[in-house]
This record gives sequence, structure tokens and C-alpha cells, in this order.
Amino acid sequence: METTKKYNPETYKTPTGSQLNCKGWVQEAALRMLLNNLDPEVAERPEDLIVYGGRGKAARNFESLDLIIKALKDLEEDETLVVQSGKPVGILPTHKDAPKVLISNSQLVPNWANWKHFDELEKKGLMMYGQMTAGSWIYIGSQGIVQGTYETFSAIANKDFDGSLKGTLTVTAGLGGMGGAQPLAVTMNDGVCVVAEVEQWRIDKRIKTKYLDESIEDMDAAIDRALEAKKNQERVSIGVPCNAVHLLERLKERNVIPDVLTDQTSAHDPLIGYVPHQISLEESNVLREQDPDKYEELSYESMYRHVELMLELQKAGAITFDYGNNLRARAQEKGLKNAFDFPGFVPAYIRPLFCEGKGPFRWAALSGDLADIAETDRVIKELFPENESLMRWMDMAQERIAFQGLPSRICWLGQGEREKAGLAFNKLVKEGKVKAPIVIGRDHLDTGSVASPNRETEAMLDGSDAVADWPLLNALVNTAGGASWVSLHHGGGVGMGYSIHAGMVIVADGTDDAEKRLKRVLRNDPGMGVIRHADAGYDIATDTARKHKLDIKERLK
Ligand code: NAD
Repeated sequence: METTKKYNPETYKTPTGSQLNCKGWVQEAALRMLLNNLDPEVAERPEDLIVYGGRGKAARNFESLDLIIKALKDLEEDETLVVQSGKPVGILPTHKDAPKVLISNSQLVPNWANWKHFDELEKKGLMMYGQMTAGSWIYIGSQGIVQGTYETFSAIANKDFDGSLKGTLTVTAGLGGMGGAQPLAVTMNDGVCVVAEVEQWRIDKRIKTKYLDESIEDMDAAIDRALEAKKNQERVSIGVPCNAVHLLERLKERNVIPDVLTDQTSAHDPLIGYVPHQISLEESNVLREQDPDKYEELSYESMYRHVELMLELQKAGAITFDYGNNLRARAQEKGLKNAFDFPGFVPAYIRPLFCEGKGPFRWAALSGDLADIAETDRVIKELFPENESLMRWMDMAQERIAFQGLPSRICWLGQGEREKAGLAFNKLVKEGKVKAPIVIGRDHLDTGSVASPNRETEAMLDGSDAVADWPLLNALVNTAGGASWVSLHHGGGVGMGYSIHAGMVIVADGTDDAEKRLKRVLRNDPGMGVIRHADAGYDIATDTARKHKLDIKERLK
């Protein structure tokens, strides 16, 4: 049941420094990361407990949030807090190496797994949507996605434009928590980026946090500016306060064909996420409340038109791909037969990385001190000097990423590398080179933690796209290995009925126990991804499995 309490930045301020508010650092880490998820600098709408990705929340309601905070402060070293869709439901005896929190979000029995049924449960206060890192308390702001987005655009640059996006125009939409990373990723690859976004405040937020360069209200003026910048090989990003459909229609009318075309509006959620082009933003806010069925009807029509326009621009020469929001499926559900004629970004650009166990490894300095992240950056550069693209990323990140909330860092590390980094961070804590423990986690969009047939597992070599045993096994393996908190979600990224995925966070608190847990968890977690891809028949994964002794047949020889 909703309480009437409002978000108060003072009451819910993330503790920093080296003093504990809980009975141990693992519990303290969970408390700090939960509150960090809701920090107004980090979250999109903390007043509604919404962190990012449409309605991805950190706790079900304020009453649950208060109870979780209380429970974490009370939790003993040999106990585990159980959270059901954002509501704490029990504190159970376990042991010191067990996760301190176990979370399940938005799970529905498959035959009921759709937004309609979820909405009914949410209205009754029985569920919340956890997205991916929102409900598993390891969201770190737009930085969390920016390296992945950067890797995607650099893969496009390598594949189609001689290694750089210089002198090219990328058009996309959506400047939310994740989508906000797109313009920075394009300019990091030296290109020009135009982004349609219906809410001006989102454009302003991205400019403030250095993800976006300019805002131009008039659509034609924005297109002119972009064409001029493309001609001059300038590196610039421009936000346009308009609907994506209107921008694409105007581009088509003017026969301006983008070099690269994609989209990151919250199309995974036709009611709370996507804004239909037939009505104004103000009208959409009223209609959503007054007549949700009508709203969804308009939303689906709009997404049909949106994909139709993308297909037309693709035909005219734009390199077009789906950026993980399930837009193609929405258009197909409405009857657009060839909606899947452009590919998703994972099979097109990311899967080879997954085969090596690579994925969005991230960490945050619980002290809140920038110097601690600088120290971890130094360690990463020392550990992997031969990895040129990682070195380039670290330099750019240090120069161009503004922190949101607790200072944090992301970099895509693979099998073997994550374990090395985690152990090195634990050593930093042990030797007092940082002021407080380091918390390590990852996105659910990772090598072994997700089944999502329109995104991470689209077009698997053996057709196993919809097999969801893998994320379940991933969560079980991480629980057995002693991760600090483990979560199992449904519907993240692409919406209800379309995905099952697991989260994992582990704390490096400098102890010997943590060292043992880090060794297990940071080997097994990406290891499940390598095993999953090897099982599907990918040669790179088979080689990686052999090299890292993950191959069961080799083991049993
Ligand atoms: P968000 O809800 O924070 O932001 C979505 C933005 O789109 C909002 O700012 C909204 O105003 C805008 N918008 C909605 N409809 C629009 C329209 N028709 N025209 C222009 N703007 C419109 O969501 P987010 O966290 O940025 O995620 C965006 C989408 O990307 C989600 O569907 C999410 O699941 C998906 N996603 C993709 C990846 C990836 O790596 N590809 C990762 C995470 C999330």
C-alpha cells in the first residue's frame, strides 16, 4: 500500500566516509548503493522512487524503503534480508559467506507475464518493476551504459566507416538514464549526433552532466546545424525537444539520410515509457491517467509509424539498428510484418565480446571520495596495459565523465580480468590505500546473466534465444559463491514477457573472507556466460572456456 511520504534528499542522503551505520561493510554497501540509486543526481525521478528505464524502481514504496533501510542497519553478519519486488519480507538465518540480501523483482508465471497483469498487481501495491540495476541497487547513472554504448558505436565505426565516425551523422531519440549516454558515445567516436527528446528537462540534465553539447528548439535549425558540423567534421551532439517520429518525418521530407540510425526511447513500456507523436507531451500526461487503454492504442500506432520510418531511412542508406528497447516487437505486435528487417545491436556488434566473458563490470567508492576512484583507475591501467581500447576508454572516461552520486567507474572486462581487478581492489582496501571498501557489480545486460530473445540473446547460433535456464543458474551460482547481494528479475530492458535476468554485487572490504568470495564469484559469474555461449556453438567462447578451464569435457577427460 502506498504511503503518502515524499522523497526527502536529506533523509535519504547516501552516507559516505569510513564510519559504519550498519553491523558490517557488506550490509553498509547495500544501504549506500540503495540510497545512491535514489540520489537526485543519479535517479531520473526519485520522488516516485524511479531510478531509470521507464518505471524502474529501487523500492516498492516509501514504507518499504524505510523498512529496508531499518533492516539493513539491523542485519547481522550471518543473516540474509529477503526482498520481494521492492518490499522486505523476511530476515532469515544463513551464514557469513551467504549473500546479505536476496532480491526477486517482477517475476510472473509465464502465462500471466504481460504488462496488463503487471499493471493490475502494481495498482494493488503487490509488485514493482525493477528494470535491471534499479531494483538490484547497482545503478551508477548514465556512466553505467556509456562504455557499452561507446563500444557499440566504435564497432560501427570499425565495420562501416574506416575506424571513426568523423564526418558522419547519427540520429537517435531518448535522453533518459540510459539513452542519455548516446550523444557522448557518438562524440567520443568523433561523430555528430542529433537526438529527439520530448522532455526539455532531460535535455538540460544531459547538458549539465556533460553527456550532451547543445539544445536547439527548432527542428530545421537543429538539422542545419548538424549538416554543417558533419561537413566540417566537427564533434558535436545536439538535443532537439521533439518527438522521435516528427524528427524522422522531417528528415525524410528534407531527404536528409542519417549515416547511422537508432532509438532509445522507453519503447519497452507502451504506457509509462513511450510518448506517442499524435498528441503533445502535456496531453499525453493527462491521457495516461484518464484513459490508459486509449494511451496504449496511440502508443502502439506511434511505434508502428516510428519503425516504418526507420525502415524507410534504412532503405535509403542509413545503417539502422534496434538499441535494446523492444521497439521492433511493439511495431510487429501492431501488425508491421517486416519490423525485424533491421538487426538488434547485440548480434550486430556485441556478441563476440560476450563470448570472451566481457561485459559491463563496474565499481563504486563507498567512501564517496574521488581520490579512491583515481586509485582504482591507476590499478586498472597497471593491470591491463596491453588492452589498447581499454586504455583509450580509461583516458576518455577520466577526462569526460562527470560522476553522479558516489564516484564510480565502468569498464568492459572479460574472463580472468574481472577476477584480477576485484582481487587488486580488495588489496587496496586491505592496505588502506582507499578510505573505505569498494563495491563491485555489473549490469544484467551481461554475458551469462540474461535471456532476452529480442536483445541479448537475439539470433543465437543454436536457436536457444528464449532458453531462460541460464540466468537462473547464474543467480544460483552467484548465491553459492557468496556474492554480497543477488537478484533475479523479469522484464528488464524489453518489458514484461520478454526477458529474465540476474544481478550480482560483491563487496571488496579488504578481508581474507572477501578475497575468497571475490575469487569464486568473479570467476564464476562471467564463466557462466562463456559456458552459455560455448554451449550455443560459438568458437570464441569454446576457446575462452578451454583457456580458463571452464570446459566440462576437458575437466572430465
Ligand atoms: P528512460 O525512461 O529514463 O528514458 C526514456 C526517454 O525517452 C525519456 O526521456 C522520454 O522522455 C523519452 N521519450 C519517450 N518517448 C519518446 C518519443 N516518442 N520521442 C522522443 N523521446 C521520447 O529510459 P532509459 O533508461 O534511457 O532507457 C531507454 C530504453 O533503452 C529503455 O527501453 C531501456 O530498457 C533500453 N535500454 C537499452 C540499453 C542498451 O544498452 N541498449 C540498456 C538499458 C536500457
